[in-house]
Formats: sequence, structure tokens, C-alpha cells
Amino acid sequence: MIRFAMAGQRRKVRFGLAGAFALVGVLGLAGVPGLVGVPAAYAQPTSADVKDAAEPPSCPAAPSQDPADPAGAVRYLADDALEGRLAGSEGAWCAGTFIAERFAQLGLEPAGEDGGYFPELPLASAINPHAPSGKGRNVVGLLPGADPALAAELLILGAHYDHLGWGPFGSLAPESHEIHNGADDNASGVAALLSAAGRLAAGPRPARSILFLAFTGEEFGLLGSSYYVGHPVRPLEKTVAMLNMDMVGRLEGDPLIVYGTGTAAEWEELISAAVAAGNVEVAFQDSGYGPSDHTSFYSSEVPVLHFFTNVHGDYHKPSDDVEKIDFTGLQRVAALVADVALRVADRPVGLTLLRTEAPPPAAQEGGYGPYLGTVPDFAPVEYGVRLSGVRAGSPAEGAGMQAGDVIVGFGGADIADLYAFTDALRAHSPRDTVTVVVLRDGEELALLAVLGER
Ligand SMILES: [Zn+2]
Repeated sequence: MIRFAMAGQRRKVRFGLAGAFALVGVLGLAGVPGLVGVPAAYAQPTSADVKDAAEPPSCPAAPSQDPADPAGAVRYLADDALEGRLAGSEGAWCAGTFIAERFAQLGLEPAGEDGGYFPELPLASAINPHAPSGKGRNVVGLLPGADPALAAELLILGAHYDHLGWGPFGSLAPESHEIHNGADDNASGVAALLSAAGRLAAGPRPARSILFLAFTGEEFGLLGSSYYVGHPVRPLEKTVAMLNMDMVGRLEGDPLIVYGTGTAAEWEELISAAVAAGNVEVAFQDSGYGPSDHTSFYSSEVPVLHFFTNVHGDYHKPSDDVEKIDFTGLQRVAALVADVALRVADRPVGLTLLRTEAPPPAAQEGGYGPYLGTVPDFAPVEYGVRLSGVRAGSPAEGAGMQAGDVIVGFGGADIADLYAFTDALRAHSPRDTVTVVVLRDGEELALLAVLGER
């Protein structure tokens, strides 16, 4: 998942979290001030990090387990040997090759224009001007539909496989030069993609064709999915829906968050039926615009869903490792996604696109403002803003705030939700001293924070 905001909506939905990612930058999760003004200090990847696609590197041997096994996939992709799968790097090359091999083992057909699994795309990024300027590879595998009339239509299951390499671009630990393995972000989504592919390929053939699509360049700004919608395997008018899995490895206690339920009239009923048949509790979120690849498809008038097990304290840090993945939960998510996919693929008619939101602004404005350094937890809370962590060295840490705190007051204002918090924060200036009221273990604590500048 990319770290800056794509969703610009300020619209309350079920849990008041629509567009919550838009607030990430304001709340200090992001050091990257949007699409403009990326600090020039970000290092250019060295030529040692970036390999020309024409010279394939030698890759670590893939584990020889069941090609649909999520644990094998996460362990391979999130191993230090792949060095964090930065788009354009040797590690990303190996990750793409691994995914294509799995696709082949699962019986998926190569769906690239050249008859291969790897559509190539340029990696130049407006979001990160220091992204490698070479080529990257999406990975495409097709399960052809069984119904002669419907097989021309396509359902897409997608997950990005690139991550942050060694940082610092996109990192929330930019001062550390360490490998960001991205086990949850998004080896978990690729593992769920392979697991769902295994289920769907093994069962009765669905009526519509299903395209399995692993994206590169997501962390640099949805490059792989943007490229795909400009160069689709089949015309987008024939694409009935896109299901995105980005960060699905931390289910632990439910619910599974499902974004995009407002993008088609049939989603809630259809997902509810799948949920009733499975054993995952879900939280619906209407918005089809979010900081991941489904946004590219919804912007192109394709109904979308984004399956997501929430942010956490290891998000975009070197500590996002395989030991913290809930593989049982990941299997449950993959089973639910496969079930939803089958219900869509077998429907006699496609879905009814809902365009209930204005598109997000093309670029988030940069600029400077007050900085606290809290990491909000996106799971719904009754009242306030729960924190999944605070940034090291931030004003929030200096004030004694910690993971699990629920902010209910800020500078004299009551904080009911993330929107109120954002407004309250924006009403202040850098270097202001502000009283922050938090709930911790049932007690209210008043903490003093000296705001920084972002
Ligand atoms: Zn990410």
C-alpha cells in the first residue's frame, strides 16, 4: 500500500473512515508531502540495486511446496534475499519470476501480449522522481471461462508484489538503512492471490474468465495498475470487477475490512452471502478510492473491492516480517476472496457500477504544517482516534503517547474521530504546546505535546 493519500473524500460512511488514508499525511504518518515537493534528499537507487530487465539475475531457489501455499509464498517473497522487492531491482525481478512460475504450476495461462506472463512497463514515477527509470514487470495469468457467451468477460484478482527495498523512499523508519521485507505489504496479498488461484483453478471452471494480476511499482504510485488500465489484456468494458488484496496478513481478531462496497449495487448482498458461507467477519467501507491499485480500476469505471486487514505498528517499517503473519487468517481471507470471485464470475449478468463519489484530486498539495507523529489505527472505534503507534523521535513520543491510546481531546477540542482530530491539528502551528487527552486502560490522561513541523 502506498503511504500518501489518494482518497480525498470527507464523507462519513459506516465507521466514519472513508478517505481516512487521506489523513495519513496530515497525521504525521507520511514524511512525503504528497505528489509535489518530494524531498530531494531521497537517495537514487544505485546501479547495484537496479538491474536492467534484459539481464536476469540469478534468483534464490523457490520452495517446492504446493504452489498455492501462502506460507511458502510469503517466506520466499519476504526473505532478506529479495531485499524488499523494490520495483526495478533484482529482488523484484526474482519475485515476478517466482509468481509466474506459481501461475504456471497452477495451470494459469500466460496472458501477456507476447504470449508470456510479463507485460513490461516503464517505472518513471511522478510521485517518486527518484524511482528507478528502467522497466518493471507485471505478472498476468489467465483462468479461461467455461461459458462460451461469458468467457470473453473478465474478472480481475490483483495484488502488488513490489515493496520498499532498503528505503528510504516510503519508509516510516527512513533513518535506518535496513531491508523492508514487506511480509504483510504485500507478500500477504500475493500469497492470498496464489491461494485463491489454487482454489479457483481446482474447482469447477467459472463461467467468466479470471485474470490473476500481480502488480509492480505500486509503492511508487500505482504504476503497474495504471499501466494495466492503459494496456488491458481484454478491453476494460469487458472487465466486470477488480478485487484487490493489499495487506491481508494480519487478520488475527476480525473484522476483515472490505473497501469499495459502494462501487457496485450488488456488492453488499453478494459479499454477505459469501460471509454467511464462510467464517470471516467483515466491515464494509463504501469508498472505491484508496491508496492501492484498485483505485486505478475504479477511476476507469470498473467496480472494485479492496480486502485489507488494517495498518499496524510495523507498517512500512523493516519490522514488517513473516513471523507476524497470521497464516490461518490469510487462508480465511483467500477463501472468502475466492468465494466472492466465483459468485461474480458465475453471475448471469455483470455488476451495476455505482459512481457515488467524486474522483480524488489528481495530486495532494504539499506544504508544511504541524506534526505530531501519531500512527492511527484504522479499525473502527466508538469514539476518538485509537493509535497503532507513534513515530520514533516524534512530538507524540515525546509527550508520552503510545500504541493503544485513544485520543479524545486535543487543544481543548473534543476528538470524536479522525476528521475532528485532523481539523484540531490543522488549527495549530508548529511549535505550539498542546494538551492531548488520551484514554489509556480506562483512564483519561492529559499529555503535553510540543508540535513539530512536517
Ligand atoms: Zn505499502
